[in-house]
Amino acid sequence: MKDSKNVTQMSKRNNEFPVVHLISEPNNALKTIYLACRTCYSADYPVNIWEKDISQEAMLKLVKKVLQSGHHSTIEHCQYVFTISGVSRACTHQLVRHRHMSFSQKSQRYVTEEGPFEYITPSTIINAGLTEDYDKMMQDISAFYGKMIEKGIPAEDARFVLPNATTSTLVASLNLREMIHLANLRLCVNAQHEIRKLVDKMCKLIVENEPWLKEYLVPKCEKNGFCDEIKSCGRHPQKKG
Ligand SMILES: Cc1cc2nc3c(=O)[nH]c(=O)nc-3n(C[C@H](O)[C@H](O)[C@H](O)COP(=O)(O)OP(=O)(O)OC[C@H]3O[C@@H](n4cnc5c(N)ncnc54)[C@H](O)[C@@H]3O)c2cc1C
Repeated sequence: MKDSKNVTQMSKRNNEFPVVHLISEPNNALKTIYLACRTCYSADYPVNIWEKDISQEAMLKLVKKVLQSGHHSTIEHCQYVFTISGVSRACTHQLVRHRHMSFSQKSQRYVTEEGPFEYITPSTIINAGLTEDYDKMMQDISAFYGKMIEKGIPAEDARFVLPNATTSTLVASLNLREMIHLANLRLCVNAQHEIRKLVDKMCKLIVENEPWLKEYLVPKCEKNGFCDEIKSCGRHPQKKG
């Protein structure tokens, strides 16, 4: 068992959470998408199109036109792989709802939460002055979890007491079409703050190497020009009717 001080220290690390790294991305996303688009409208072999030296401007012109027409299967060829840590199970539960993403997540059956488990403290709890009570609750859970493990309860059953706040680790991958959809839904201010922060970090990592994608990795209101949420933040006018 780690001491209670460590539990509190873990919960104070929220600012750096979630920790996200983009570990794999296409070397030539724009050219790949251009190839997919051009192939649809060309009698030439795709490999010949690939070997041509096309300017960035010409590639962008076609790609943007095709995307505007809704021909989105052309961006499914670009795959991104992220490592994610320091996110709550509350957050990962939302992330795994995205059915075109692939996940490998730390198992609470096979990995025992030795000592104080890592957990997220929402800023609302800190701002309400409830951090001490919250940390105490986590320590109590941790102590009981440890007691169950010591008594031989398997981790898959002891985990029943672990809260949504418990952090998790994942490898998550998705194609560009799903990444844009994820951004459209989860960058909206109505999305939960943690998944919004996570998706924002994912988008920024992609845009670092592909600045032209910035205009697509936006909340849906930016894409649509209107808000279709019941509770609007006012960034764009609400959809009528
Ligand atoms: C602000 C917010 C609040 C939410 N609140 C709740 C809630 O209270 N309760 C709750 O249960 N969930 C909630 N969700 C989750 C939401 O309902 C979706 O499950 C989640 O956002 C995944 O979205 P998706 O299905 O569009 O995307 P994905 O699963 O990523 O799929 C992308 C797209 O592929 C297509 N697609 C995927 N699978 C199918 C299929 N089987 N059939 C046909 N088309 C398919 C659809 O066009 C879909 O939009 C919330 C999400 C947000 C952003």
